Amino acid sequence: MTVLRLFVEGGLAAGQPVALDGGQAHYLLNVMRRQRGDEVVVFNGRDGEWGGRIEQLGSRGGEICVETLLRSQETGCNVWLVFAPLKRARLDFVAQRATEMGAARLQPVLTRRTIVSRVKLDRLRANAIEAAEQCHLLSVPVVTEVLSLEYLLENWERDAPERLIMFCDEAAEKTAPVHQLREVSRKKGVQRSWAVLVGPEGGFDDEERELLRAREDVVNVSLGPRIMRADTAAVAALTLWHVALGDLS
Ligand code: SAH
Repeated sequence: MTVLRLFVEGGLAAGQPVALDGGQAHYLLNVMRRQRGDEVVVFNGRDGEWGGRIEQLGSRGGEICVETLLRSQETGCNVWLVFAPLKRARLDFVAQRATEMGAARLQPVLTRRTIVSRVKLDRLRANAIEAAEQCHLLSVPVVTEVLSLEYLLENWERDAPERLIMFCDEAAEKTAPVHQLREVSRKKGVQRSWAVLVGPEGGFDDEERELLRAREDVVNVSLGPRIMRADTAAVAALTLWHVALGDLS
């Protein structure tokens, strides 16, 4: 029987009881047929990964007793994904894949050509949690409220101080992006963190492009000669960022 891995909200330490919510209890009890005494692995994005046992399990909730530290919390790369929300299945895909790629924040942004305006943040978050549980990650990205591109940019220095924006734009000059990102990072100081910005299926319009290109904290990057769908572009862009400046550099 495989040991299940769960994201929990509560603090983790040896001997500590941790509450399971109704959804988790239902999953353990009815879907995975677990019972009291069975082993589980838990993490909360702050205290590392712990092994524990099911102490109580009912249809409305339960409790886990935390036993041993398996992995200490590590501070990963600090890259955010800022993306125009897409339709359901593609949005699920973006949330899951960006989590796997280590995005620390998922920030939906409304642009002029964004078709989807209502985003279920709970669903985004559930997708991120599921991906983190399955892929042995130690943290789950923060999912933030949807903002307009204008608002996001106007308040960027206040809300994301020292963070550079990798603006993915199919109309950008085709340069070698790894070199380009490293150059900017070197000039601006390597300590700066980053956000990857990907547009909607219809792309950015000219005014948005101008607004972005005029900023000092924006780097206009081409992901190559092929135009990708927005969900593919998000994964390609995060991979490229990792190669240039992150875990794969
Ligand atoms: N405007 C285009 C498609 C936009 S693709 C059209 O309909 O013809 C959706 C988003 O993916 C873009 O806004 C951009 O952020 C990203 N993207 C896709 N291909 C890209 C590429 N080759 N280089 C950089 N960004 C790309």
